Amino acid sequence: MSISGTHLLDERWQFSAEKKGLSISLCGLKNSCQIQHVAIATVLKHMKCFLKLHVCWNRFAVWCALLIVGLSCYQAASRPMGPWRDSPRNVILIIGDGMGLAQLSAAAYSQKRSMHWESMPVVGFIKTHAADNLITDSAAGATAFACGCKTYNNAIGMDSLGRACTNLFELLEQRGSCTGVIATAALTHATPAAFLAHQPHRTRYYAIAKDIVHSGVDFLVGGGLQYFTEREDGQNLKDSLRHQGVKVCTYEDGGLSWALMRKAHRFAWFAARNHPSAAELGRSYLASAVSLGARFLARCAGDRGFMLMVEGSQIDWGGHANDLHFILREIQDLDRAIGAALAFAQADGHTLVIVTADHETGGMSIPPPSRKRRIAEAFSTNSHTATMVPVFAYGPGAEQFGGIYDNTALQHKIAHLLGL
Ligand SMILES: [Zn+2]
Repeated sequence: MSISGTHLLDERWQFSAEKKGLSISLCGLKNSCQIQHVAIATVLKHMKCFLKLHVCWNRFAVWCALLIVGLSCYQAASRPMGPWRDSPRNVILIIGDGMGLAQLSAAAYSQKRSMHWESMPVVGFIKTHAADNLITDSAAGATAFACGCKTYNNAIGMDSLGRACTNLFELLEQRGSCTGVIATAALTHATPAAFLAHQPHRTRYYAIAKDIVHSGVDFLVGGGLQYFTEREDGQNLKDSLRHQGVKVCTYEDGGLSWALMRKAHRFAWFAARNHPSAAELGRSYLASAVSLGARFLARCAGDRGFMLMVEGSQIDWGGHANDLHFILREIQDLDRAIGAALAFAQADGHTLVIVTADHETGGMSIPPPSRKRRIAEAFSTNSHTATMVPVFAYGPGAEQFGGIYDNTALQHKIAHLLGL
């Protein structure tokens, strides 16, 4: 990766400059290399002034200040991004559903600034196939991430023989760690469900909702309220959650806010009756949910650590619709959430952030006459494909996620790093 011009390094430089009591606006530039060049040029200009024996003490003071800034810039730019010495205490796993390399490339080429995932220092590739099919669905893909076993398409937390498999969240809950799920689809949808439920088929939404209530998960944000409150069995699972001490709020009570969850030990916010709207129609809670959720779970877990699974659910739906604009808006929304996760991890120092996808959707490519910020649409299918998907990692243990491996290995690596 480039050592200059990344968000993280810029933020580190700003933090470093602030610690030294220097004004960030002194340079007013975003890029640490640019700052060094300006500092050096200004130093030379004022050195000339000094050599001419002009008494310009004020300028000399500026010269010294800029020298310090230049040195701090150099230190920040040359500071390694890893390896981190310790194992992670917390893991934030961010899954872009259907987010393949072409989707990420199109997003990167569609805007002027670099995206947050571009600053993550470790990159690998994941082979996504299911037990019974080269082309996985989201249920088998997420079960592989949650349980570490290949299974059949449509399985939610079940192995290929139809037996419930123990997932990462259950192992964490057993030892007193805290867990959370944030999604931009219904919480009963395949990806979040695979971390919270065990059902033979992904469409058993009402049974999945019941499993979610019994999962012990500490922080929930997503849609699907109807599967908890409008049930044929007459049960109100929102009340069941409340009886467990979960502070339950919904879109009817207002937006997600820190005030709602501040005094709660466990928290759930339902964003919609079924699926929340698309990002381009105004859905905007994902990044703030990640920021608030990470802080909530850190307070919940303390030294015992937490795991937060975040799904950008609707990138996949843009792929199924072969709609590039839809995909780009959803990836931009997810990237803001990645930024929030990286900001938490950088401040915390004990949090590993992993960004990946369960599979690619749409067989997307970027053919001619594509240009920067004018990407041509090209899809080969309206279904999923078997192409490998990228994985990005930042934080303690990140170096474990380079290379090429099966989706099941992601779970094994996380379990090993967390001592599960
Ligand atoms: Zn999927």
